[in-house]
Amino acid sequence: MTDRPGIVVTGASGRMGRMLIRTVLESDAARLVGAVERAGNEWIGRDAGALVGEPETGVAVTDDLLSAMAQAQAVIDFTTPAATVEVAMLAAQARAVHVIGTTGLTAGDLKKIAAAARHAIVVRAGNMSLGVNLLVEITRKVAAALDEDFDIEVIEAHHRHKVDAPSGTALMLGEAAAEGRGVDHAAMAVRGRDGITGARAPGTIGYSAVRGGDIVGEHDVLFAGEGERVILRHVATDRRIFARGALKAALWGQGRHPGEYSMADVLGF
Ligand code: NAP
Repeated sequence: MTDRPGIVVTGASGRMGRMLIRTVLESDAARLVGAVERAGNEWIGRDAGALVGEPETGVAVTDDLLSAMAQAQAVIDFTTPAATVEVAMLAAQARAVHVIGTTGLTAGDLKKIAAAARHAIVVRAGNMSLGVNLLVEITRKVAAALDEDFDIEVIEAHHRHKVDAPSGTALMLGEAAAEGRGVDHAAMAVRGRDGITGARAPGTIGYSAVRGGDIVGEHDVLFAGEGERVILRHVATDRRIFARGALKAALWGQGRHPGEYSMADVLGF
């Protein structure tokens, strides 16, 4: 079936890349047309099926994104901020949907992605799972209902290989809490505490990061008041939830107007 959108996966040999390749290969709604890795990566030239222990797919891992994009309607990208900015420009040229799962993007990176989104459909989310996006909506509502007497803290835990903190998901949750409360997130965020920090400033939104082992991703939003606490929690046990969400976003993006979209748009929240 050639009417199924062609999907390119970047960072193909990464933790998420492999999960994405498996998810696209298993899907009846999409087909894998490209698997891209960094120049010099040991998988270049090998069949993408081998990355996930599957038979030959006929798609060889390549470092040539431009050629890979030739037959693609979407690129799913869970790599590094530098790679994602590059992909954004090529995806815009190719008029392909760019699904961005990469976290740790700076304000400068986001500006370049926004420029690319004038010509391309970009779906970006620090977390592609249904559960977390639901938690974001609930966090916004709870933050709107509880006043400054309840201190907001976002506590997240991830595997030992994660390179950025707080996680993209933690920031999504903190930003939703700030929106719910009607305050400026950048002004209220406290992203690390060490030493004599002084008492907690009222109305701030604190972040704590735990790193260890193979934790896929856990997030608590704590509303701590006098005599009671409300804790909203999401626990991810399988990376497949992110890959499924990303593929859903790639399919949802087909035929949309150029612009930047979130998983809330994809999920219809
Ligand atoms: P990972 O295992 O380190 O995978 C990243 C992959 O990207 C590696 O294979 C790396 O190759 C490759 N890469 C780096 N530069 C590249 C380039 N220029 N072109 C093509 N490929 C390139 O990391 P991960 O755990 O899969 O996570 C990747 C990103 O997704 C992180 O930012 C993470 O926080 C995020 N993430 C998001 C969600 C979500 O739902 N939004 C969920 C999970 C993870 P080398 O190894 O050769 O450098």
